[in-house]
Amino acid sequence: MSKVVKFGGSSLADANQFRKVADIIRADKERRFVVPSAPGKRFPDDIKVTDMLYACYEAVAEEGKNAHNQFAPIAERFNGIISDLGLTLSLDREYEEIIENFRKKAGREYAASRGEYLNGIILANYLGFQFVDAAKVIFFRPDGKFDDTLTDTCLASVLHGMENAVIPGFYGANPDGTVRTFSRGGSDVTGSIVAKAIGAEIYENWTDVPGVAVADPRIVNNPKFIKVITYRELRELSYMGFSVLHQDAIFPVRSANIPINIRNTNDPSADGTMIVPGSDEKAESIITGIAGKKHFSVISIEKDEMNSEVGFLRRILTVMEANNISFEHIPTGIDTMSIVVDGADVDKCPDIVEKICEVTSPNHIEIENNLALIAVVGRGMKAKKGTATRLFAALSHADINIKMIDQGSSELNIIIGIHEADFEKAIGVIYDMFILSEAE
Ligand code: ASP
Repeated sequence: MSKVVKFGGSSLADANQFRKVADIIRADKERRFVVPSAPGKRFPDDIKVTDMLYACYEAVAEEGKNAHNQFAPIAERFNGIISDLGLTLSLDREYEEIIENFRKKAGREYAASRGEYLNGIILANYLGFQFVDAAKVIFFRPDGKFDDTLTDTCLASVLHGMENAVIPGFYGANPDGTVRTFSRGGSDVTGSIVAKAIGAEIYENWTDVPGVAVADPRIVNNPKFIKVITYRELRELSYMGFSVLHQDAIFPVRSANIPINIRNTNDPSADGTMIVPGSDEKAESIITGIAGKKHFSVISIEKDEMNSEVGFLRRILTVMEANNISFEHIPTGIDTMSIVVDGADVDKCPDIVEKICEVTSPNHIEIENNLALIAVVGRGMKAKKGTATRLFAALSHADINIKMIDQGSSELNIIIGIHEADFEKAIGVIYDMFILSEAE
């Protein structure tokens, strides 16, 4: 059996962090396949290597500045790690090649990917593992989408004969061989892809936090951390702004039923959070997590006998599609309907209300902006009476007006819409009601 271990940028920010990472890997022989990010911040005002690379590329390829000068601080970061670790490795040849490719305008994605590439070479050298360039094993299709079939086959066959390997995160190759990256934070996705391809027992994602917090620590002081969460719960929460893992990292491992374990590099003895496939996993509490987002708009439409008007919703959706607007939720009544959309979409198409009006001839239509949505998610909610009552009571005691309610048919979540100004307060009172009071 084997484990895939991915380390985030802060876990590999300097030589000291590299040592912790090596200790973690050496503590378990099954940790055979390692996916590193580029070096992240060493202190709050520090700059991540990925951001340095984007800026360097812009200065060289777009502003024509001297490539060696621009690249020097990046080389210094890597050379510092190499010398602090006491390695005899030299990356001078790689630096020259990268500088040359920057001059030839190899592209922003190529530039950004070099952080993971160089860090992967250092880590492989330090651990005595083989280095596998991600551009040789992770592929994208001509339309830019990730090519899972080709990648699975290639990764499985390359890694099959290896005792262990370091595969840099964040990038792969287009059909023409040029480098393509996932979106920011994409090393999480690489880890998940590698775990699936080799049929790993577990995908360990090592970061700098104790796990997945029940609620955003910027809103709730010292929130509890979740011990076990299902993929579906995490998906609901990620969609609403949980940011512990890249959104797309769930899919490859989920399809192969491989659990993800979020762990803390700075506290390796802690269990972290397990993300598991099974929805019958026993819940610790009714609510697993609370997440939310601001800047939504709700378009409310009233029309007599709307319920019997065939094609009513289709006409609205056709108008929205023509204007490239997707909907988040559509709670409906008999003669009323509310459409919740991302506020940014309304900013792009300010006359969307008039357009919907033209095709529906409603009795009344209005738009309200500055709505926040909060998702209260928990597999423990299923068939448990009184959850909604407690939720609404908590909000009402805090004098928060609920503008919209949507409960998913799976009974896994309740989504409420409130005014943005009440957002932080609402998350706080929901946390107190379900997490703090249950812990007492
Ligand atoms: N280094 C990339 C970023 O900063 C990818 C990653 O760290 O996952 O977004």
